[in-house]
Amino acid sequence: MDMYNFFKEKALLLAEQIINWRRHLHTIPEQSFFEKETSLYIEKVLKELGVDTEMNVAGTGVIGFIPADDINMPTVAVRADMDALPIVEKTGLPYASKNEGFMHACGHDAHMAMALGIAGIWKEVKNPPGNLLLIFQPAEERPPGGAIKIIESGILDKYKPRAIFAFHVNPLLPCGQVGVKKGVLTAAADRFVLKVIGKGGHGASPHCCIDPIVIASNIVQGWQQIVSRVSDPLGPLVITAGSIHGGSEFNIIPEEVEIKGTVRTLSREMRSKIPSLLEEVTRGYTAPFGASYKFEYFKGYPPLINDPDMTGILAKAAADIFGAKNVIWLDKPTMGGEDMAYFLETIPGCYAYLGVGPEKGEPVPWHSSFFTLDEKALHLGTAALAWSCYLKLEKGSSKPG
Ligand SMILES: [Zn+2]
Ligand SMILES: [Zn+2]
Repeated sequence: MDMYNFFKEKALLLAEQIINWRRHLHTIPEQSFFEKETSLYIEKVLKELGVDTEMNVAGTGVIGFIPADDINMPTVAVRADMDALPIVEKTGLPYASKNEGFMHACGHDAHMAMALGIAGIWKEVKNPPGNLLLIFQPAEERPPGGAIKIIESGILDKYKPRAIFAFHVNPLLPCGQVGVKKGVLTAAADRFVLKVIGKGGHGASPHCCIDPIVIASNIVQGWQQIVSRVSDPLGPLVITAGSIHGGSEFNIIPEEVEIKGTVRTLSREMRSKIPSLLEEVTRGYTAPFGASYKFEYFKGYPPLINDPDMTGILAKAAADIFGAKNVIWLDKPTMGGEDMAYFLETIPGCYAYLGVGPEKGEPVPWHSSFFTLDEKALHLGTAALAWSCYLKLEKGSSKPG
């Protein structure tokens, strides 16, 4: 029997259990960084499965560790996010949220249930080619996010996983399909605030004032030239000034203008250049006219960049479990943010989409109060992730070092 069939069969035996775990977690959605009851439930299930746990990692995070016969063998990690959203659930499902005002509307309940399923399967693997690390991570939905806090807690230094895998359920992809992409999958979403400080006075006497409105207008235009003249046309870049405020009357030159905006980038290199470019343009339009400024740049999640080799492994695993024709290679990244990106900056890995879309009718998107998913995909997703881990460990342990 091919080894992948072992994973498929074990997952099938656990299918109902995985759905039950997911449904229970669905009834107890909790907000980012406050996943208390959720973490206790995960601990309980992991203990029932005979898995060693570490609690209260980076707040409410839970770590499960299944050592191989020889703990010095390599380790691979699976990541599941834990938080829900401040949304009133309107699905009317029998297992709808019992925590008024919160809802698992992004499918993180399914991610946790699959990670528990992986533990269930892995316990049955004879002589696994390495150790398995399960990272239940708080607060994906709210920057700065739980992933960076898990990393700061030293978990990766302690267990030294060589790779990390995760699925995100995707209602826009039909149930039974998996969406994969090498390289960048989600954008970095940063934001900034600029105050242009001039000198106020009478609108009829601009020579006695420093007009921050004219200067701010030039700065906004100048930034657009970073997009059109500085950035490589083949590397997407968005600079948006989404808010600009200043002044109170038609005949008064105000003291200052405030601009707020967002920057979206798809590469680490481009992202690192933007803050100083924005500021240089600002300096170029303020200094000659005697104005000053205050510029603040806030980093959101980095771009999520899948390692090509790990993506190959996950795609192979998915092809074995779902059938090759059901592995869809995505050609475009999305502009949404995802804090799995921090893990992928630290260790190679792959984050892919698990199709959970409905058989008929319009899919309901993430973060909707009517969000649902087709649970038939969950045991297959579980098998594919577990099989990815196995394949990576098998590869890793066949080579010395
Ligand atoms: Zn979400
Ligand atoms: Zn999500």
